[in-house]
Amino acid sequence: MTAKEVLAMAREKGVQMVDLKFIDLPGTWQHFTVPIEQFGEEVFTSGVGFDGSSIRGFKTINESDMILIPDPETAFIDPFCEIPTLSLICNVYDPVTGKNYNRDPRFIAQKAEAYLKETGIADTSFWGPEAEFFILDHVRFDHSQYAGYYFIDSIEGFWNSGAEMNGHPNLGYRPRYKEGYFPVPPTDTLQNLRTEMVLLLKEMGIAVEAHHHEVATAGQGEIDMKYAPLTRMADQLMMFKYVVKNVAIKHNKTATFMPKPVFQDNGSGMHVHQSLWKEGRPLFFDADGYAGLSELALYYIGGLLKHGPALAAFCSPTTNSFKRLVPGFEAPVNLVYSQRNRSAAIRIPMYSNSPNSKRIEYRPPDPSCNPYLAFAALLMAGIDGIKNKIHPGDPLDKDIYDLSPEEASRINSLPGSLEEALAALQNDHEFLLQGGVFDEDLIKSWIEYKTKKEISQIKLRPHPYEFVLYYDI
Ligand code: GLU
Ligand code: MG
Ligand code: MG
Repeated sequence: MTAKEVLAMAREKGVQMVDLKFIDLPGTWQHFTVPIEQFGEEVFTSGVGFDGSSIRGFKTINESDMILIPDPETAFIDPFCEIPTLSLICNVYDPVTGKNYNRDPRFIAQKAEAYLKETGIADTSFWGPEAEFFILDHVRFDHSQYAGYYFIDSIEGFWNSGAEMNGHPNLGYRPRYKEGYFPVPPTDTLQNLRTEMVLLLKEMGIAVEAHHHEVATAGQGEIDMKYAPLTRMADQLMMFKYVVKNVAIKHNKTATFMPKPVFQDNGSGMHVHQSLWKEGRPLFFDADGYAGLSELALYYIGGLLKHGPALAAFCSPTTNSFKRLVPGFEAPVNLVYSQRNRSAAIRIPMYSNSPNSKRIEYRPPDPSCNPYLAFAALLMAGIDGIKNKIHPGDPLDKDIYDLSPEEASRINSLPGSLEEALAALQNDHEFLLQGGVFDEDLIKSWIEYKTKKEISQIKLRPHPYEFVLYYDI
């Protein structure tokens, strides 16, 4: 849609308010709202001012004025506003230089897409994230609701080391441990909620392929969007989280994209399917290659695996992310690729072996990431692999969890903590700086933000399990 078309649509729908949304450094939406009469076509070029001083990861107080310029392509009518409200996703600009703000995650994603074109390797990258989430009761102490009961149960399980989760008294109906995936209702209690989410996403212009319960015993779901180009998909992921959280709240539930909310059960991942295209042709397919992959796709994989530890700083960017990346819960631990192995960091889906659907699935990311930064970093690693012909070596088609210690020692692992991931990023970020896509300031701010605001803050607080271990010492 052009700016004119957006305004015409707003008039036709009786819009009274325009909500301007932008993305902070950690990857959440921030917003403010302008009455429609204040909002003319010029806003799409000159923007609206705001105070960026209190935005997480943005500027300090003395240089806080910023400009938001909305992207007309992102227009949608906000389904959660009672008064008709037009919603627009914005880029952030610096009023002094008049240029894009270098820490605007959306700008980095756009630069990554432009850089791909510039290299001549491809003109489009397609992205299909499978974001998983938990739906829990908003009122935590309401035992009549299954998910709430489970939540309390799991917290108790967590306190008691979790192994006794099944030994708790039967306070109500619940599925057998690990059997929430995926019998029909009433075992699946979230069918109607997920359907409501999907219908809203469709209304907002997002194509959805399927929704289903996920493997965690209860309360975990997944909705899969149809693939889209990089920045568009990052925008869609923000819309997706907004819909999932707001539909949940409407039903007195709460949704979380935290990667590992429940001890000893599956966490929430966000596997990212990726492929490159040029002039309408897919570049990842070769009928004679391993798992139908072209040489270019193998090099792309080589780049992802080589930079896997540094990528974790953007793809698994919370202290909680690393509680998911452990053996036994279908989350990857090792930096290898395979056509069937779900314990490998990269899986080559074999559902269909047509050229157009040939893609790779990168499994380490989780939905706590900032999708703009994560997708941009993944693309940059893949491009680096292609440019430098980084061959990923042989695939690993056996179950990685069952390897002998000797075989296992030859395999690279993902970092074991956010600290390790940030250290890896510190040592390995040249590939991100190519074409000016990321810059040193962004890398430094990211490491500083994550260290000071998250890692250090966690370290300062007594942990519940410390009470189990030490209270009676
Ligand atoms: N929940 C698993 C993860 O943390 C993935 C399950 C699946 O294969 O969809 O990655
Ligand atoms: Mg899944
Ligand atoms: Mg998957």
